[in-house]
Amino acid sequence: MSSTPPSNAEPLARAACKICGGPCAEIMRRNGFAIVQCAQCGFMFAPVAPGYDAAAIYKEDVYFTSGGECGIADYDALWRRRLVHFYVPRLDRVRAFQQPKRLLDIGCASGYLMRAAQQRGWQVAGVELSPEMRRRAAAITGSRVYESIDAALGSGERFECVTMFEVIEHLSDPVDTMAQVASLLVPNGTLALSTPNCECPHAAAGEPINVWFDPPEHISYFGPGTIRDCLGRSGLEVLAIEGLEHYCRAMAGDLTFPPWVTAVLAPFRRGKRLKPGGLLGRILERAYHGRMDLYRRTSSADLPRTDVLEVYARKL
Ligand SMILES: [Zn+2]
Repeated sequence: MSSTPPSNAEPLARAACKICGGPCAEIMRRNGFAIVQCAQCGFMFAPVAPGYDAAAIYKEDVYFTSGGECGIADYDALWRRRLVHFYVPRLDRVRAFQQPKRLLDIGCASGYLMRAAQQRGWQVAGVELSPEMRRRAAAITGSRVYESIDAALGSGERFECVTMFEVIEHLSDPVDTMAQVASLLVPNGTLALSTPNCECPHAAAGEPINVWFDPPEHISYFGPGTIRDCLGRSGLEVLAIEGLEHYCRAMAGDLTFPPWVTAVLAPFRRGKRLKPGGLLGRILERAYHGRMDLYRRTSSADLPRTDVLEVYARKL
């Protein structure tokens, strides 16, 4: 059932940068895979054999219900507890660049983001590889859900906005695929994407939950500079790069104080760690649940510390 390649030793030998074509060298091993970095532009990726179908993992419905080696144990619970708070506010952020018209959500899973967009006045469509998720998304939105980006392109439908959250890190040829995504946009159309910031200080350690170097699911590893470069080579101009700090701690169920609260409490809590189930943790959960503004960083000076990048771009 698994499409996991046994190792990537063979493609590693002749790895050229997927973004700029520059020379690459191995920097680490994860899950039995070598990860390389480009000497020229700094892009990091796990080389995979030509013909390896990086998308095959997600065509199995089991990806969304666990059971497989890869995947998400319970997508509905993940959406309700966390993703709704991280993804839906981005629809409001998109309004700074694009008024609601036609929106395509790539990697739409069971269609919850599509439904939230409908509630905000967008006409929606989706792209989803898993047949079961495709069926569910179509059922709850009454909209078309394509089985691939190619199928969406072939339909002739074009969009004022494409959303693509936590997808680009799964792509083996991100420049080629993002050029296809650009073709789905009307001129000046808006792309909103998010991806783990693999250049943040704790990415290599992979803690508290590893959203960064996790092959064979995550095989392309971006930072603020390389995502800008990748999109630029795909016919897209970056309008804004923002980030989420402490995102992974929040995803892991651990909540954090804003920095000023931490400073005020420091003398009283020396050496103590906040327990999510403890009194303070419960107060925080109630006060800060879903408050994405507490995690979002918009200054470029803060970007290096963020766990996840949120990028807005327009089609040239
Ligand atoms: Zn490069």
